Amino acid sequence: MPYIGRFAPSPSGPLHAGSLAAALASYLDARAHHGQWLVRIEDIDIPRTVAGADQIILQQLHTLGLHVDAPVVWQTQRLSLYTQALAQLRAQAQVYPCTCHRRDLPPGPYPGTCRPKSQQQPSSLLQAPPPAPSPTAAKRRAWRFLVPAGIEFFTDRWLGPQSQDVAHEVGDFILKRTDGLWAYQLAVVVDDAAQGVTDIVRGADLLDSTARQRQLARALGLPLPCTLHVPLVMDTHGYKLSKQNHAPALDLGSPLKALMQAWQALGFEAFPARTPEDFWPQATHRWADRFAILRPKDG
Ligand code: GLU
Ligand code: ZN
Repeated sequence: MPYIGRFAPSPSGPLHAGSLAAALASYLDARAHHGQWLVRIEDIDIPRTVAGADQIILQQLHTLGLHVDAPVVWQTQRLSLYTQALAQLRAQAQVYPCTCHRRDLPPGPYPGTCRPKSQQQPSSLLQAPPPAPSPTAAKRRAWRFLVPAGIEFFTDRWLGPQSQDVAHEVGDFILKRTDGLWAYQLAVVVDDAAQGVTDIVRGADLLDSTARQRQLARALGLPLPCTLHVPLVMDTHGYKLSKQNHAPALDLGSPLKALMQAWQALGFEAFPARTPEDFWPQATHRWADRFAILRPKDG
């Protein structure tokens, strides 16, 4: 099967050292597999979108020499795909409307308050029935995925065997929010399948979403991509580098330096390279060795 990888940044600000490491890893994995590399702008969380950040990210990728193999897509232009997916899950009775207010929910997994009666766990039948929906509830409802019972197992190409009991650890999760916005979990699953993505390479903060995404893909009858989660880049205080933590902007005055730093942030050793053109083939070669990827053209 031909390899298709992707980088899926949220346009909440320019790339920083952490997001560049994820971009670099997905790019190298695609190149090492002689595959295609796609970029998808994940702009569905509209309140978090920063105007112009998408163009800055694309410019940064270009400056660093990460070249996209197909036209870039924006999630806000693909809403009909998410509507279709939710309709399919409704037809399959695998989603249900939820009128709970966040302030009324206990911390931790969703307790299944709005689950259809036929689907309730024996223990929750003993609890008080959900409060009667208010007259405006029809408008203010979210859609939740009816998480199947059982443990989800998968093997991550970096982190090895993984498992999660989604029903107990997460509970029925939201696919469409009360404010009408689509949840990341649904959009990412629908888009990865629609774009033919075979391999997801991203930061380890999303490892915890993988089991949910696998369950959703299975419910929609979609193929399950392989995953590889790279270590997160930490700041000097041991926090994940992120826009929220005010990660410093990338210095693109020296693309080679930025690339080499991202490479080392992934745990690889620096190697001599004088230009980005010098960096790419060597890094790709080392990546292929690290993940035992056969390279027919090098043989
Ligand atoms: N848009 C997500 C983020 O920026 C990444 C989604 C993914 O790679 O699955 O954190
Ligand atoms: Zn509810």
